[in-house]
Amino acid sequence: MTTAPTDFATRASALDAADPLGDFPRRFVGSDDPEIAAYLDGNSLGRPLRGTAERMAAFVTDAWGGRLIRGWDEQWFELPLRLGDRIGASLLGAAAGQTTVGDSTSVLLYKLARGALASRPGRTEIVLDRDNFPTDRYLMESIASELGLTLRWIEADFAGGVTAEDLAGVVSERTALVTLSHVAYRSGYLVDMPAITAVTHDAGALLLLDACHSVGSVEIELDSWGVDFAAGCTYKYLNGGPGAPAFAYVNAELLPRFQQPIWGWMGRENPFDMAQGYIPAPGIRRVLSASPGIIGMLPIQDMLDLIEEAGMPAVRAKSVALTEFALDLVHEWLAPRGVTVSSPADPARRGGHVTIDHPAFREITARLWNRGVMPDFRQPHGIRIGMSPLSTTFHEVLTGITAIRDELDAR
Ligand SMILES: *Cc1c(COP(=O)(O)O)cnc(C)c1O
Repeated sequence: MTTAPTDFATRASALDAADPLGDFPRRFVGSDDPEIAAYLDGNSLGRPLRGTAERMAAFVTDAWGGRLIRGWDEQWFELPLRLGDRIGASLLGAAAGQTTVGDSTSVLLYKLARGALASRPGRTEIVLDRDNFPTDRYLMESIASELGLTLRWIEADFAGGVTAEDLAGVVSERTALVTLSHVAYRSGYLVDMPAITAVTHDAGALLLLDACHSVGSVEIELDSWGVDFAAGCTYKYLNGGPGAPAFAYVNAELLPRFQQPIWGWMGRENPFDMAQGYIPAPGIRRVLSASPGIIGMLPIQDMLDLIEEAGMPAVRAKSVALTEFALDLVHEWLAPRGVTVSSPADPARRGGHVTIDHPAFREITARLWNRGVMPDFRQPHGIRIGMSPLSTTFHEVLTGITAIRDELDAR
């Protein structure tokens, strides 16, 4: 028995027309550029907002050019903490005073992991998984070699991710720190956070969460989940621009004793005293080390405006609808052409992207980029389709997957 082929074009039009956030994609730079047929990599580099171009020009002329050195006292010294509190409130489920912005995710993961390990003396193991993002793995390798600790690896399901059962199998009274990604960068697996924090804490260990691939697309509740430490990017779903400063979260209960290893002046108590000896600043400022990159914090504010206007539940609902639509297309058009899905089928366990695999995808990705269809390639032969909820239309998803189908047929 054959069923009638789905009319995906009609469905994409209907979904876009009914989308309560349907007006948002137009607010991004390039949304009217005919050379960009489908941008499916907003989870690697979010698109700029139109308002960002104006905000940055005004900053150069008014704030930097006009206020000059006075800007530090008036705005910039406090900006990492103010922006951190806003990210905490709008996106992380974090009460004020626990989040700050500065450095890169890699540097913050290092600082947080070292600070965490210092508060679990006598424990000798760090738990991590083979499919975590490379920087997370390399950093833990470096810390383990620096401190003489043992790495305990979880071999998670390639098309899934770390489950509470996987974790329970490796933690023990030797575990100091568990580190994992909230949404896996390749499979898109969305970790069951309450279960993971429970297993971690039952073993007496601390949890360091990498939220790079979830913040701004998946709802996060760091305080109520009881997460100890977290860090994440602002250039993916937060559209901060290439290399924009990351955020760090330290749970308020751990903050008074938390000490990170890079003792720069900006993390000191009263830095402008220029005093002898390092004393960590009270509160979350102690995570900072150096003069914060203020210019990099400007675009994030525009994206926060947008996300707050939409509300995270609506953002997540759009994200789920986009990934469901993409997977329907993949099952009907690409699976018969030998493509496999390496992402969870259950939307409750899936973040904002899906990865599909086929041996020809490396060469096909290059051809897609040439025709203005931009997903990402991920080893060994995956195309990762990222659908940033506020900038991506259903029509773009259709265009992108149609192009993949056509390139497969053209070989
Ligand atoms: C993108 C990403 C990073 C990137 O770290 P940087 O220090 O910004 O280069 C780290 N972890 C995960 C899970 C990511 O997705």
